[in-house]
Parts: sequence; structure tokens; C-alpha cells
Amino acid sequence: MSLKYIREYRDGTLAKGLLGEIERLGVKDCNFMEVCGTHTMSIFRYGIKNVLPDSIRLMTGPGCPVCVTAQKDIDAFITFARDKEFIVSTFGDLMKVPGSSSSLQREKSQGADVRIVYSVFDSLNIAYENPEKQVVFCAVGFETTTPTVAATILAALEKKCANFSIYSAHKLTPPALAALMETDGVKIDGFILPGHVSVITGTQGYADVFEKYGIPSVIAGFEPVDILKAVLMLSKQVKAGRPVLENAYERAVLPEGNIRARQVMDQVFTVENSVWRGIGEIPDSGMVLKDEYRAFDAAEKFGMEVKEAKEPAGCACGAILMGLQTPEECRLYNTACTPEHPVGPCMVSSEGACAAYYKYKR
Ligand code: SF4
Repeated sequence: MSLKYIREYRDGTLAKGLLGEIERLGVKDCNFMEVCGTHTMSIFRYGIKNVLPDSIRLMTGPGCPVCVTAQKDIDAFITFARDKEFIVSTFGDLMKVPGSSSSLQREKSQGADVRIVYSVFDSLNIAYENPEKQVVFCAVGFETTTPTVAATILAALEKKCANFSIYSAHKLTPPALAALMETDGVKIDGFILPGHVSVITGTQGYADVFEKYGIPSVIAGFEPVDILKAVLMLSKQVKAGRPVLENAYERAVLPEGNIRARQVMDQVFTVENSVWRGIGEIPDSGMVLKDEYRAFDAAEKFGMEVKEAKEPAGCACGAILMGLQTPEECRLYNTACTPEHPVGPCMVSSEGACAAYYKYKR
């Protein structure tokens, strides 16, 4: 199937053809995890769950960057915002995420200088324009985001911008997949791998996880035909009993990924253990600044004491991010927790599973 235009990836006839093939294969009782939050949103937007056979269950995974950011890191962002010395800059999704006692949005409403940016480079410009203030960027996200943040650090170094720094809560995707495979009770028969992340990592980025766990894995784009094609490829692998690491997003993802982006990322960041919301610490799953760039590490520069923090009582985000529960199984869903009054990040983020259920499934 070689398609050229976006409308073809949304074509109902093509989608029906793929569905027919999936149905004819007749795989039994399969859990496929869409790792990426953007996939989750597409799956709901196009009603894909509703048209798949009952024997194929799509589960949300840990691929929403805001959702997996640990409570202690949200609290750290809020601590910076409360200090008049700082301008905190962030992507919009983080604004409403509740910390232990507040949110960036609430702090902003009470006078804190919190600014929404669309690119980390905008944060650097804010620093240039406000030399009397310290500008801290809330750096969350996966391999897709980290190279741009790294490039910004290099630009800040070159320009000797002393009032810009980041608080890094960056995460890596493959270690999270490995952690899921090691978690008791998690039953995954195949991964729909994230398209955006894979543009950077390439197919090769998952080779170690695939080699170790031998689980069917397909990199997918975000249109309905992309997703159905990935489900079909996974179903074929399951039916044949032969796991393969495949790329169904060839128009964007190369086997080797974006080498230059990874070079920049590896120049500036180094790998460290990282705490994921609801999942806990995953070895080698975080990215922190290398020693030579520590002048841009906000936590170190300002002696931020990052304290452990409890996640909101009753919030099942962790279980949802591991595919162990659905949002509707959380007792707070659509009662105490709504997009207007979110309890956990999965209800806030535009890529959050609870937000997707609330928007499309109700
Ligand atoms: Fe957490 Fe709200 Fe989702 Fe429940 S519905 S898991 S409280 S975000």
C-alpha cells in the first residue's frame, strides 16, 4: 500500500479493507498497546476501538509526556514559579497539572510569571528580553523534544546567556517498554510504537527491547489507515507466532532515525534513572545535562531541593499508563475528576487517556 496524500490515510474504503483483513485473520484475545498519547487521541477521534473485533483490545501506554512526569517534578516547577526572581516557561499542557498543593495555572492567576511557549527557543528569547530575571524552562518530553532542548542549550552557551536554565524531566521510550514487560500483571501482545519518537530513534532504537522480549512491534503513523495497518501487521505476527520489529511509518521513519538529532541530544544530555508517575523509577530512562552543561541545570544552579511527593489519592494514572486499567475504572473519573477540575495529569493533557475518554467516549 503506497499512499501519497493525507486524505488517502483517512479514506473510508481503505480503512474498511484493512478492517476486513483484520477480521478474517480472527486473532484471539489480543492486547495491543499504543505507546503514544497521540495515537490514543487518534484512536478515539476516529472511533477505531469501536470498529475493531472484540478480540482485539487497544490499551493506552506511557507515551504522554505530561502524564508520566513525576509529582515531585511538577512541585519543583511550582516552587520556581512562586519565586519572584523567576519566569517559568512551559508548554501549555503542563499548566493545569495539579502538583501537591497548586498548579502552574493557579500560581499564574496569583501573580506568578508563568509563560506558555510553543518552542523552547521562545524561552531563550524570553531570557534575552528579561536579563534581570532568571528564566526556567520546564523540560518534559521524550526523544522527540529532547534534541531541540539540547540545541537550545548549545545556543544559550554560545550567546553566554546566563539567565536561562532548564529543569530536565526528559524521558526515554525504550526503557519504559522494557519496564512494562517486566511488570507483573501487564499483558501485552504487541506494541504500536510511537511515530514521532521513532523519527528520532529509528527502527533500531527498539532493537534491544525487541531482542530481549521478542514481542510483536510496529511503528505507526497517526492517521486512521496508519493505525489500522499497524493493527493488521501486529495481528499477522500474532497469528503466525513470529514476532517482528516492523516500520509501518516509512514516509517519516528511517531505520537509523535522525542521527544528527541524536548526536546533539547525546552531546548535551546523559542517561540517568528517572521516576515515572505511577510506575516508579525506571533504570536509564531519564536524560539529564552533562557536567559541562550543568550551568544550565536549574535544580543545581539554584539549589532546588526536590522532595518526594505523593500522587493524588485515588488517581489511577499509573495503572492506566501501564495498561492495567481504563479511565472508566478509576472511581474519580467524571465525578471528582473532569477536565475543568482534573485530579491527575491524564485528565489534563491533550494526549492523556482520561481526557480522550472524556472527550470522545462519553
Ligand atoms: Fe487520575 Fe482523573 Fe484519570 Fe482518575 S480520571 S486516573 S483521577 S486523571
